[in-house]
Formats: sequence, C-alpha cells, structure tokens
Amino acid sequence: MFETVIGLEVHVQLNTKTKLFCSCPTSFAEHQNKNTCPTCLALPGALPVVNKEAAVKAMRFGYAVNANVNHTSTFDRKSYFYPDSPSAYQITQLSKAIVQKGELFIDLKDGSQKRIGIIQAHLEADAGKNMHEGNYSKVDLNRAGTPLMEIVSEPDMRSSDEAVAYLKKLHTTVRYLDISDANMQEGSFRCDVNVSVRPKGQEAFGTRVEIKNINSFRFVEQAIAYEVQRQIEAYEDGIYAQEVHQETRLWDTEKGETRSMRGKEEAADYRYFPDPDLRPLIVTDAMIEEAKVMPELPDAKVKRYMEEFGIKHYDALVITAKKELAYYFEEMIAQGAVAKTAVTWLTSELLGRLNKAGLEIEQSPVSAQTLGELVARIADDTVSGKGAKEVLDYMMENEGRDVRAIIDELGLAQVSDDGAILAIIDEILANNQDKVEQYKGGKDKLFGFFVGQTMKASRGSANPGKVNALLKQRLNA
Ligand code: ADP
Ligand code: MG
Ligand code: ZN
Repeated sequence: MFETVIGLEVHVQLNTKTKLFCSCPTSFAEHQNKNTCPTCLALPGALPVVNKEAAVKAMRFGYAVNANVNHTSTFDRKSYFYPDSPSAYQITQLSKAIVQKGELFIDLKDGSQKRIGIIQAHLEADAGKNMHEGNYSKVDLNRAGTPLMEIVSEPDMRSSDEAVAYLKKLHTTVRYLDISDANMQEGSFRCDVNVSVRPKGQEAFGTRVEIKNINSFRFVEQAIAYEVQRQIEAYEDGIYAQEVHQETRLWDTEKGETRSMRGKEEAADYRYFPDPDLRPLIVTDAMIEEAKVMPELPDAKVKRYMEEFGIKHYDALVITAKKELAYYFEEMIAQGAVAKTAVTWLTSELLGRLNKAGLEIEQSPVSAQTLGELVARIADDTVSGKGAKEVLDYMMENEGRDVRAIIDELGLAQVSDDGAILAIIDEILANNQDKVEQYKGGKDKLFGFFVGQTMKASRGSANPGKVNALLKQRLNA
C-alpha cells in the first residue's frame, strides 16, 4: 500500500492598478509592449520601487490565513536567461517573505475539515510573453513586472481530492479578499503540483516530481492520478530509483500523461542573491491597518449561516463556495426572504435554471432583490410555490420587471380571501350533495376529493392551507 504526498505552489496575479516595481498599468493594452517603461524593460540605470498596493494585498492574505506578516521582508534576484525577462533575473522573495507560516482549512467530502499548512506567500514579478510565429519569435513585455503572490503549501495533502479542495478554498479565499481575479483560463491563478509516493508507514518522503502550470481543477486531478500511478508502478517494478527523479514535468492534456520537461533546478542554479537595488520592505502602521480590513470569509459565513439561519452545513458550503453566491443569498434575506426557503429557491430553482442557460450567478437575469421578493411573496401567501416557479420561468426570459405586476399579469395571485374561497367551496359542496353525505357518514377519504375540486375550480389560485381549513369548517359544521 502506498501513500500519496502532495504540496502545491500557486501563483496568484494580484489585481493592482500598476506593476510591482514601476507605475506601468497592469490593464489590457491595445498593442504589444505598450505598458512598459525603462524599469520593466530593465534598461540600465532604471530603479525599482515596491508597489504599496501589492504589499497590502499580500499582507491581507497573510492575515486571512492566520500567518505571520513580516514587518520587514526582503527581495532577492533569481537568475535565469530567457527572452521574456530582459533583466535576466526575476525579483522574488526567497529568504524572508512578506508572509510566513499560515494555514488553510479545506472541506472534505464527509463534511469534516483538514488543516493544510502554508509555508509562505511571497511577492514576485511576472515575466513577459514569448510568441512563436513560424521561423521567428516575438516578445511582448506588457505583462513583465505584473505582481504575483506565490503561495507555497506544506506537503500536507494526501490525495487528489484534498489537493483540489485546497485549490478551491484558496481560489475562493483570494476572490473574497478581492486581491485577484483568480481567473484560471486567463492565467491569473496558476498552480504547480508537487507529487510523491511512499510505502504506507514509511516516514521519509519519496522523490517529488513537480508538474508545471496546470490550468484547471480537472487537469490537477488527472495529472495527479497519472503521476501517482506512474510512481507506484516504478516502485512495484523495482525501478523507482531509475524512473522517478526530482524533475519538472508537463501535463499533456491531449495525451493525458505527464512527461519530462527538464531536470529540476537546484537553488544554486538560480544564483539567488539579495537585490542590491531594493531596500528591505518595511510596512507602516497605516498599511497594517489597511490590510486588516477583512470581509467575512467562507468558514465564518458557514458557521454564521448555520447558527443564525439554521441552514444545513452542506447548503452553507454550497452557497459560500463563491462570493457572488453568498452575497446574492444575503441580499435575498435583506429583501425579507425566509432563509430556508431562500436556500431552496437559490440553489435548486435559480441555479438549476442558470445551469440550463449556461449562465453564472453574476450573469443572472433575475436579481437577488427580485428573487428575494418573490420568496417573500410565497411566505405571505401572495403566490403559491407552484405559481412562483412559473413567475421565475417568466423572469428568466423577461428582465427587470416588478414581481407583483408579473404575478398579477400571469394570473397567479393566490386567493387567500376567505369569502372568495368559501364561495367556491359552497358551490362544490352543493353540486356534490351525495359525497357530502358519504363523508359525514364516515368516508374520510373524500376530504381529498373536495380539496382537489376546490383547487381545480380556482384554477390553482386558492391558498391550499386556507382551502383545507375552510373545508373542515364547512364539513364539520
Ligand atoms: P522549489 O522552490 O524548489 O519548488 P520548495 O522546497 O519550495 O521547492 O517546495 C515546493 C513544494 O514542494 C512545496 O509546496 C512543498 O510542500 C512540496 N514538497 C516538498 N517535498 C515534497 C514531497 N516529497 N512530496 C510532495 N511535495 C513535496
Ligand atoms: Mg517550485
Ligand atoms: Zn514599467
């Protein structure tokens, strides 16, 4: 039996207005090399200056994961020669990162949580982009110098499920903190997966392989599964030492396999040394104060939703997994929706319809205010649950309309007025004298028949609770 050991390195692109060491914008540029200046082009004599917004955002992350936020941190040069880096080194934080020793709690399928240690989170500059066209290559440095935060986990994960749960929690967290768009397709949330196996019971870790730049949760799962299988087979075939090296591998999405990219560099290969152009980064009290301004994070929300609204753990996890969903839910409550009903209408009715339409919650044609009001109208008997589904169907196709007006227009207003319901009941009873006699003679089952007839005569608009109560009143008189 073998045990899988996984540690993750995640690069999060910070959503600052300007680059990490110069004032070039990080926004989309209409042509190549537009967002550049002497500093990010690494022209001689140009000096870097640390971006305060990037530092505060990294610090905010640190506080969110219960880490030590270092009031003094330093920058190092990591040397490598490649056309996308005109300075031939990357500025990063090796010896003293701004954030050290944190933790993230992941949610496992059985409902429990597991603590995953975070070794550090450090600031570093992104490289530019090489574009290969036929016989020649071009370099675009718009992205060069964009701030990244690299979050390095402890090798605490023991399965691909745990690795994916960690990535999802991290993704959710940086989005709640509003420090990154964390868009995996666009590369603002990239991850390297370190995987090793060891015989169960063995204390020493096996040889780790690093799989680079996997851009979806599904690929993370597949790459780990493939790599674990490869390493275990090598072990069982007695060729572990020959087959499993500390190396960098690539996930080939087409072939569904990892393949060797290059031997793993040792730290010495990078000739790390302190950047002589940058003084230590010393944070001010004002920066600390700003970084500590924190939204309510998913774990706290789950706890509060369960305590305050009495909703199920599973539902709370679903709703808080994405900040837009949580904020949508909270807005529904603010509109007077009852929490438990709001959960159902959000997670099954609305999400079901959005799913079918291929839409995300933030693209919903029905706003939280509107759905919240609809749910409140069910609670006050203006419309039945069944009628409300029709109203929601209508609203999915017709944006921005008043809930009450739609209920009336579709003729779905529920009749709760005693007089109106009694008039229908009396007519039904008068037309079914024989059945009334049988009921009074002890045939209780006929009660359902009267309810059905009344509902039908009202074309479904009568409030079923009222129908029941008034029928009992009339029949037992
Ligand atoms: P490097 O910077 O060279 O990639 P680090 O020492 O920073 O190396 O470790 C990178 C990642 O590898 C960390 O996330 C760590 O948890 C993980 N890791 C270290 N040893 C192992 C191992 N034996 N198996 C799996 N992951 C490991
Ligand atoms: Mg690494
Ligand atoms: Zn610049």
